[in-house]
Amino acid sequence: MQKLEQLYEGKAKKVFKTDDPDVLIVDYKDDATAFNGEKKGTIVGKGVINNKMSNRVHQLLEEKGVPTHYIQELSDRETAVKKVEIVPVEVIIRNVAAGSFSKRLGVPEGTPFEQPTVEFSYKNDELGDPLINDYFAVALKLATWDEIKTIQDYAFKVNDVLKEYFLQAGIKLIDFKIEFGRYHGQIILADEISPDTCRLWDVNTNEKLDKDRFRRDLGNVEEAYNEVFKRLGL
Ligand code: AMP
Repeated sequence: MQKLEQLYEGKAKKVFKTDDPDVLIVDYKDDATAFNGEKKGTIVGKGVINNKMSNRVHQLLEEKGVPTHYIQELSDRETAVKKVEIVPVEVIIRNVAAGSFSKRLGVPEGTPFEQPTVEFSYKNDELGDPLINDYFAVALKLATWDEIKTIQDYAFKVNDVLKEYFLQAGIKLIDFKIEFGRYHGQIILADEISPDTCRLWDVNTNEKLDKDRFRRDLGNVEEAYNEVFKRLGL
């Protein structure tokens, strides 16, 4: 497989074409942004950690029956993925109140839920990824009802698999964001899963081991990413 010209550069990754029209190469950077790009920085080593962690998680999800875009890890920072048409809906699953949920609804961070919640936002930087519901997604023609149903079922399945995966490493999965894409008519998971996109707390101390350390200037950002990497045995 040959890496061809760059197709796109995002906040945390570059995406390249290949000589196969169905395959792209993702190249993970150490750049970090928060608050829709207002806060910028570097987390040294993050690209390698996110690449390897995301790939391990995708392999696990495939084994458990969730189709993903993962094809093959090519290097520390590069992975071959299936080229999808992204569904512009961000899906957030929460097990414990935190972040925007706590702020919007006045629920203290760390309050556990009896059942996980699902929410959708419209993936649109100009609008600041506004919160929507399933009816909005269909009205905006972002996805069909069938696709929304599939996406929601997969998202809860991802939560079940990840909760267990992190727990055996002494980590609580508080919440996470994922995105899906269309590949030859099928909905598949097409997003990284890493401390950039999940809230991960130490199971005993509730110490934050994720990007909130960067967002909230808590310090020891690299150490937290390395700790997750080490605990997962990656
Ligand atoms: P929030 O809505 O800010 O409480 O975020 C919920 C979860 O989704 C957290 O784990 C965030 O890390 C993740 N998340 C929300 N928005 C994004 C985004 N634009 N990129 C990556 N992860 C996100």
